[in-house]
Amino acid sequence: MGKIYVINVLQINEYLYGVVPSEIISTWETEALKAQAVAARTYTYHHLISSKKNIYDLDNSSNFQVYNGISSEKENTTIAVNETSGQIMFYKGKPIVAFFHSTCGGRTSHDKYVWGGEGQEYLKSVACTYCKESPYFSWEEKVSLYEIKEFLNKKYRGVGNITGIVFQRKDNRVVSAVIHHKNGIVKLTGNELRLLFPEKKIKSMHFTAQKVNDGLILHGHGWGHGVGMCQWGAKGMAEKGAGYKDILRYYYKGVSIIGIGHRDYAWR
Ligand SMILES: [Zn+2]
Repeated sequence: MGKIYVINVLQINEYLYGVVPSEIISTWETEALKAQAVAARTYTYHHLISSKKNIYDLDNSSNFQVYNGISSEKENTTIAVNETSGQIMFYKGKPIVAFFHSTCGGRTSHDKYVWGGEGQEYLKSVACTYCKESPYFSWEEKVSLYEIKEFLNKKYRGVGNITGIVFQRKDNRVVSAVIHHKNGIVKLTGNELRLLFPEKKIKSMHFTAQKVNDGLILHGHGWGHGVGMCQWGAKGMAEKGAGYKDILRYYYKGVSIIGIGHRDYAWR
């Protein structure tokens, strides 16, 4: 029995009218919204070019970008999409993988420390002092050893009581964790550990851990994977007078921002 796909065929700007307000707060400064519009458009083109195995180009979940349809459109973000229409970030002749996240908490993360591999030149870690107004700039979360065991058991079999955890860090972020338990050892990347827990539990891997009786208190900074543009940082830069191109060039090093016109379907 085959599956039926419902495919919404949209022009790219129409798609972005629905995506951008779902990814950023539409009352923010215009330049931050424009930076988000270009990042979202670039991310979309990157996937249009590289997604070959599906009969559809993009899905509407956070696997790609959140698309909530026409009802989610907001005037300010629609203006930001229109005013940057056709503009895309390129590096060495290709649209970049324009990752973004809520709050870096002081420094972005090179993608290779989050997802492994070689990493992209233009996604190298940058210091960010612009996201201090974010409600997620600093956070604290208690995680009990019992919880860690329970969440590990959802992915790995036979995890016993936790007896020790060793974190390895790069750019202030936990890049891997070695978890010792009664029946053995589990090794996982920082990002895998973060994603084992419910979405807001371990907000980022930018934390230090303090041991308490039955668990850990995490003293953390930021929310999200930390790669690419820091959205609260984009807001902070815009408030200080930066234009959207300044913002994009700050978080994506060495990119060119090029207008490709309105060739909406020309990239397959
Ligand atoms: Zn930041």
